[in-house]
Amino acid sequence: MNQHNFSIEFFPPKTAEGVEKLRVTRNKLAELQPKYFSVTFGAGGTTQQGTLDTVVDIRREGFEAAPHLSCVGGTRDSIRQILQQYQAHDIRRLVALRGDLPSGYGMGGEFRYANELVEFIRAETGDWFHIEVAAYPEMHPQARSPQDDLQNFVRKVKAGANSAITQYFYNADAYFRFVEEAHKQGVDVPVLAGIMPITNSSQLQRFSEMCGAEIPRWIRLKLNSYGDDSASIKAFGLDVVSSMCERLLAGGAPGLHFYSLNQAAPTTAIWKNLI
Ligand SMILES: Cc1cc2nc3c(=O)[nH]c(=O)nc-3n(C[C@H](O)[C@H](O)[C@H](O)COP(=O)(O)OP(=O)(O)OC[C@H]3O[C@@H](n4cnc5c(N)ncnc54)[C@H](O)[C@@H]3O)c2cc1C
Repeated sequence: MNQHNFSIEFFPPKTAEGVEKLRVTRNKLAELQPKYFSVTFGAGGTTQQGTLDTVVDIRREGFEAAPHLSCVGGTRDSIRQILQQYQAHDIRRLVALRGDLPSGYGMGGEFRYANELVEFIRAETGDWFHIEVAAYPEMHPQARSPQDDLQNFVRKVKAGANSAITQYFYNADAYFRFVEEAHKQGVDVPVLAGIMPITNSSQLQRFSEMCGAEIPRWIRLKLNSYGDDSASIKAFGLDVVSSMCERLLAGGAPGLHFYSLNQAAPTTAIWKNLI
């Protein structure tokens, strides 16, 4: 299992209670020995301090941690300051993103796309950071076409990314095809599959609409048929996602990145099915 590359994502808690809860979650997930934990960055930098505090907390407990950094709405100066802060904490790994501003904010800032952020990080800090970028096997919702999105992904990798993590998906074929096409375009960095456990039907459908991840019809129908029978949703979700992970690893995926939503149980259950 651990010859693969496994990582687990959190979001920064907003309350003292949330911080404490995340500590408990993290200690449970640490038993699975992921390579690192990553911590998201709020749109337009709204959780910047929370991201750093959470990463520092994780590292203090002896685990590897990577902050996400999104550039939308930022300036060269503001991003430079964040990078310097991360360097001062000896943080060596980053997930570099464009991010999304809340609607009504426009795009603003001095960076338009993630490839510009990656270039900037390399220009400012050389090889200090291991940089991960995002990939979209089912196309980013704002892209003009899958081909265009692939080219934009390739541009981001060529700007200096060391590896990539995909948006979550429930179509393994979309992942395999994306990786194959990226390889043909000269991408040779690992593309880790982003995995979203299924535990809550309405929340998943809402997220998926926003981020452009498709829930296959048969999965959606099954989930809907369980109504508010949470135990059946969880059991079905565990089965579907574990089988997909097995298929991804058997088909050559270099690793998995779990969107934990700060919960230990769903990721742990999938993981145990894979051992
Ligand atoms: C693993 C992962 C982690 C994430 N973590 C966070 C987080 O912590 N915080 C957060 O706010 N969001 C996060 N997101 C969401 C992400 O910020 C959004 O999906 C955002 O809309 C795009 O970010 P990106 O870095 O992929 O953008 P980009 O790679 O810049 O792509 C954005 C869009 O622009 C197009 N594009 C890219 N480059 C160019 C170019 N040079 N010219 C023209 N068009 C271009 C692309 O095709 C795409 O449609 C995460 C997503 C993933 C997959």
